[in-house]
Amino acid sequence: MACEHCKSESARGTPTCPFCGEELYRTKRREQLLYYLLVAGIFAALLFFFLTMRNLPIF
Ligand SMILES: [Zn+2]
Repeated sequence: MACEHCKSESARGTPTCPFCGEELYRTKRREQLLYYLLVAGIFAALLFFFLTMRNLPIF
């Protein structure tokens, strides 16, 4: 995998480029995906709790 900052090829498997020290593209994409999954999970949990609370006789 080539570094998008300095175009060096031997940056495979490392979170940052050993030549210029910048974060590699694949790592950023994976962190973004994890972030979106986390947000989606939180929204799903909130929706689940909201629907569960509405069906309780207390409310
Ligand atoms: Zn680089």
